[in-house]
Amino acid sequence: MGFSTDAIHAGQIPDPTTGAVITPIYQTSTYAQEELGRNKGYEYGRTQNLTREALEKNIAALEKGKYGIAFASGLAAEHALMSLVKAGDHVIVSDNVYGGTFRLFELVMKDYGIEYSWVDATNLNNIEKAIKKNTKLVFLETPTNPMLVLTDLAEASKVCKKHNLISIVDNTFMSPYFQNPLTLGIDIVLHSSTKYIGGHSDVIGGIIVTSDDNIHKRLRYIQNATGGVPSPFDCWLTLRSTKTLAVRMERHNQNALKIAEYLCKSNLVERVIYPGLPEHPQHELAKKQMRGFGGMVSVDTGDFEKTKRLLKNVKIFTLAESLGGVESLICHPYTMTHASVPKETKEKFGLTESLVRLSVGIEDVEDLIEDIEKALKTV
Ligand SMILES: *Cc1c(COP(=O)(O)O)cnc(C)c1O
Repeated sequence: MGFSTDAIHAGQIPDPTTGAVITPIYQTSTYAQEELGRNKGYEYGRTQNLTREALEKNIAALEKGKYGIAFASGLAAEHALMSLVKAGDHVIVSDNVYGGTFRLFELVMKDYGIEYSWVDATNLNNIEKAIKKNTKLVFLETPTNPMLVLTDLAEASKVCKKHNLISIVDNTFMSPYFQNPLTLGIDIVLHSSTKYIGGHSDVIGGIIVTSDDNIHKRLRYIQNATGGVPSPFDCWLTLRSTKTLAVRMERHNQNALKIAEYLCKSNLVERVIYPGLPEHPQHELAKKQMRGFGGMVSVDTGDFEKTKRLLKNVKIFTLAESLGGVESLICHPYTMTHASVPKETKEKFGLTESLVRLSVGIEDVEDLIEDIEKALKTV
């Protein structure tokens, strides 16, 4: 099936009781059992919930995977992924990942005896060089946040396979519409469904997709054992959102490209970072492994005072954390999303104080461009 057909139909059958076309919100904590040891496959809400199952099947189909496992947030999903390793194991992570990922790994999981190495994964030799006897996982994010740096996933998965490592990709920025890491040989895909999959800035969620039976079995066990599950209503909202994912992503992509091109031509800013621009150093790789370039654009004005004015004077763009919603947001990664990342680390990958990140929404692009232009020209 094509993406949009799957988005609208996969995992969703009319409700057997009433024929309701839309999967109901099964808002129940427990299920009646017919007799001792006999039930309809549903015992307790944390363990099984039909609204959640529909969402899991739906996103699994969009990511071309066998299994989806939903969590209460992207970070709850990442935390569950860390149960694939134990104290004494080593994990390789591409640097300049989402700030919360850095915080979870470095400031929480490290205390449980898990070891992390941070590498520049644009060069795959760095992954190979970081491999140790106790390495178990490789966690990649591409494009990264907010520098929009890419990792070659087909090549990275080859390296992981060669060394018997489980590969994980945080695919939040591209959504399943523009990039399917499993089809490039990656073992596990992770999403913060709070972002593009949810798309309306009204729900927090995370989802993991894999086609590996053993990984699925372990994560399913962990989902129940640690309990970070999403509510039935949140699953329903997310399921409602995936139906329009394709049309939203097309528009995010179109608007972001126009804004990036406009800013590039203007002399209002110093640097524009967007994988869809031919100037992007990995534009060819972007074209190879993605079907679009997404809605995230990073802009460096070159001057912190100018950046402050931009952040203060935009009217349609809202100054806020998060991304991927239909409304345009602007943020200051240095002090917002990446506040918990040490200054030296930020400097290492070029995250300056004057950099802003745009999550380009699906409004009329002329209005968005005018909004930025006016704010940049304010003295
Ligand atoms: C937001 C985000 C996360 C964390 O997800 P939550 O749903 O906020 O817990 C992880 N990775 C990326 C790339 C994100 O943008």
